[in-house]
Amino acid sequence: MAKAAEQLTEQQILDALRAVRDPDRGGDIVSLGMVSGLIVKDGNVGFTLEVDPQRGAKLEPLRKAAEKAVESLPNVLSATAVMTSESRQRGPAGRAQPVAAGHDHGHAHHGPAQGGPGASAQGRPAGLAISGIRSIIAVASAKGGVGKSTTAVNLALALSQKGLKVGLLDSDIYGPSIPRMIGITGKPHTNDGKKLVPMENYGIKCMSMGFLVPEDTPMIWRGPMVMSAIEQMLRDVEWGELDVLIVDLPPGTGDAQLTMAQRVPLTGAVIVSTPQDIALLDVRKGINMFRKVDVPVLGIIENMSYFVCPHCHEVTEIFSHGGAQREAAKFETEFLGEIPLDMAIRETSDEGRPIVVSQPDSPHSAAYRAIADKVWDRAQAILGLQEKKVPRIVMQ
Ligand code: ADP
Repeated sequence: MAKAAEQLTEQQILDALRAVRDPDRGGDIVSLGMVSGLIVKDGNVGFTLEVDPQRGAKLEPLRKAAEKAVESLPNVLSATAVMTSESRQRGPAGRAQPVAAGHDHGHAHHGPAQGGPGASAQGRPAGLAISGIRSIIAVASAKGGVGKSTTAVNLALALSQKGLKVGLLDSDIYGPSIPRMIGITGKPHTNDGKKLVPMENYGIKCMSMGFLVPEDTPMIWRGPMVMSAIEQMLRDVEWGELDVLIVDLPPGTGDAQLTMAQRVPLTGAVIVSTPQDIALLDVRKGINMFRKVDVPVLGIIENMSYFVCPHCHEVTEIFSHGGAQREAAKFETEFLGEIPLDMAIRETSDEGRPIVVSQPDSPHSAAYRAIADKVWDRAQAILGLQEKKVPRIVMQ
């Protein structure tokens, strides 16, 4: 974390919020006791605004004004306010019910069930939690072809080698390459006619549109269909107990990805990038997208970071190698590690024998395992934060 973000105090945030007045009640929102659950993390600020449920929709400008007031502070990277009616309605887990006027982007309303178990301690109105799945980590990239799926598969396998129960959901419905990479063919079946049983290989449970439609079949998806296909693969699948579900997101930072980030209860996201995207600032787009919807960015992985000659093993820097590390520091996120451009990685993933399982002693497998360690450490820190549930500040 940069020094600047450390200097941000709760008092500063509350002082900024005192400038925001509730137009109906004629006082500032802090003195009126509307602000609670303040969380400050790496310069990202989250808090809830307790309101009368009847006034929810009407108070959207107030919510926006509160976010703006906090965002205007130096050292604040993002501010997210969520309206709740905590004292009046409590969800099954005893937590506040987000009121249906929550968020920007117009995607925040997922039906009445969304509030209780899905709302995170950071105040993020996440989608409904999936029973049995402890954490969900998205693997994202700003564009296709950077090695996102290859990274997702090897990361999932490295997490599994740590002894975790791992699932892998290929939500890249435009080019589902996970079945080929993890060496699974055939179609999933149902046990009870309702839920699909995930396919399995190398100890990982896997679901992909590629099991249902061949990889080379062009699929035309309209916006809402994308989300409903992904939600079905997430919720209508017999995942069982999982420590972590890795979700390979479709490439890009458009609406489909944003909706995913909001509708799926993500613990965090990992961004895969090549050195040239980092130079083109594509990574910034990815980070901003997740921050906007309050999904913690666990860090950046630099893929195809440098080239190792298969004959003489000489290392060649293709683009400016090391850019991810510098960018990660700039964005106050973690640099998770680098993976070289190496034929062995390509061949093994294209043949369905990912390097982490087919060449576990190679330095590349060690690099994936080191990344998995960091990812899991960060995810656990976030899970701990979410499980705390107790607001740090409750105004009377
Ligand atoms: P994305 O999911 O970003 O579209 P893929 O994971 O499908 O990208 O990778 C695209 C191609 O690049 C695949 O053929 C894959 O085997 C190859 N590839 C990915 N990472 C590496 C790497 N580090 N070294 C060599 N080839 C790689």
